[in-house]
Amino acid sequence: MPAKEINTAFVKDKGSHKDLADISIEQRLRAIFELQLIDSKIDAIRSTLGELPLEVRDLEDDVTGLETRISNANTDLENLENAMKLKRNDIKDAQELIKKYQGQLAKVKNSREYDSLNKELEYQKLEIQVLEKKIKDLKTSYDAKKTQIEETEGLLKERKNDLKHKQNELNDMIAETKKGEEALMKKSASAQKLIEDRLLAAYKRIRSNARNGLSVVKVQRDACGGCFNKIPPQRQLDIRSRKKIIVCEHCGRILVDPELSDSVESKMSMQED
Ligand SMILES: [Zn+2]
Repeated sequence: MPAKEINTAFVKDKGSHKDLADISIEQRLRAIFELQLIDSKIDAIRSTLGELPLEVRDLEDDVTGLETRISNANTDLENLENAMKLKRNDIKDAQELIKKYQGQLAKVKNSREYDSLNKELEYQKLEIQVLEKKIKDLKTSYDAKKTQIEETEGLLKERKNDLKHKQNELNDMIAETKKGEEALMKKSASAQKLIEDRLLAAYKRIRSNARNGLSVVKVQRDACGGCFNKIPPQRQLDIRSRKKIIVCEHCGRILVDPELSDSVESKMSMQED
C-alpha cells in the first residue's frame, strides 16, 4: 500500500459489520465529503456557544474557591475565639489568686511573708496585663478575619449571581441549537454507515488533529484546500479519476476534486430547501 493512499478498495474491514464491497470509490468519496460538510455544520453550531461554556466553568471554579476560603476563615475565627476564651480563663485564675493573696496579707505574721505575698500579687497583676494585651491582639486578628469573611461573602454573592445569569444564557443557547444539532448528528450517523471503518477511523483521526476540523478537502487552485500546498498535475489527475482515495502529501487530508465537491454541495443544499 503506497504511503499516501488509504487503500480501501473493495475490502471488507476486519471486525466491521459493514459490507460495502459494492460501493465504488467515487461513492465513498461522495459519502465522506458529505460527512465532512455535515460535521463542519455541527462544528459551526457548537462554536456559536463560543466562550460561554468556558466562562460558566470559570465562574463555577470561582464560587467553589470562595466557598472554601470562607469555610477556612470561619475555622480560623473559631480558633481565635477559643484562644481568647483560654486567656480570659487565665485572667480569672489570676484574679482568684490575687483575692487569695490579699486575704492572706491581712493575716501575715512577719515582714518576710508580707514581702513574698506582695511579690506574688505584683506578679499576678503583671500576668493579667500581659494576658489582656494578648486578648487585645487576638481580638484585632478576629475583627480583621471577620471583615475579610464579610468581603468574601459579598464577592461570593456577586459571583453566584453572575454564574446564574451565564448558566441561564448557556442553557438557552444550548436549547436553541440542540434541535439543529440533533438533526445533523442523525445525518452524520447515516453518512458514516456508507463509509468503511478503516476510512472512517482515518477521517476521525485527521479531523481531531486539524485545527479547523477539516479532514476532507477539495483541490482549489491546484492546491490542497486544507494546507494550501501545491498538488502536482499527475496527482490531480489521479484525484479526478476517483479510483483511489488520495490524501495530501503534506497534511494527510483526504482530497476530492472540485467537480465532485460541487456536486455534493449542491445536492446537500437542495436537500435543505
Ligand atoms: Zn494538505
